[in-house]
Amino acid sequence: MIEDKVYAARSILVVGAHAFDAEVIAGPLAAVAANRGATVTFLHLTMGEQGHPCLIPDHYCAQKEKEAAKAAQRLGIDVRNLGLRDAFLPNDDETALKVCDVIRELKPEVVITHWHGSWHKDHRAAAELTRTGFFFAALPTLKRSHDAHTPQLLLFGENWEDDDGFKPEHLIDVTDGFEAWSAAVHEYELARGLSSFPYVDYYSALYRLRGCLRGTRYAQAFAAASHSWNAGAGLFAPPAAGNRKP
Ligand SMILES: [Zn+2]
Repeated sequence: MIEDKVYAARSILVVGAHAFDAEVIAGPLAAVAANRGATVTFLHLTMGEQGHPCLIPDHYCAQKEKEAAKAAQRLGIDVRNLGLRDAFLPNDDETALKVCDVIRELKPEVVITHWHGSWHKDHRAAAELTRTGFFFAALPTLKRSHDAHTPQLLLFGENWEDDDGFKPEHLIDVTDGFEAWSAAVHEYELARGLSSFPYVDYYSALYRLRGCLRGTRYAQAFAAASHSWNAGAGLFAPPAAGNRKP
């Protein structure tokens, strides 16, 4: 089961377009995994500094860096920030190499990012940058400061802005991470009324809804990479026991 694979990982990397995206895509899951001993890292490609109606981006960026650090502390995880420009996240190989370098350095078994079907251009870019960064990280002939590394699983999390074609293929029990998630997101002004979108209501209800279908109090939904992606990345499932050669 995907759930067993995720919670067996020693290292998990979650890549979000803006600080707060990784928190909703995989925050409760991160809290559970960290509590079980995994090293979980959120990589914010941008801080989402253009999203405040009154503060100038530099000031909001500083605020969000503090909020992200406090949220990470609540979840028991590490946080990184590539410092790229909100609303102008470049979708190119140079940026994908930055994601590749983080994957090679942290050596996660599991990587989680946005689903590609999003109205938001930065989210579409983040989805593609992570897939390309994953591909670069695994490429042994590509010399970087860290050796090549192939994560074992790529998943796409659920985000209200990324709903075009998203299918909740895998439901993962995150019941034990819900309280930490709730405390973590409330560190952000975004969850305390800054946005007209009711983030906390939406995601609390969503995790409960997924939990109803999973048979637990709370669950998070994920879509898997395609079979051809997994085959291309060398991520074949092990053969059935009866088919193994002696
Ligand atoms: Zn976002």
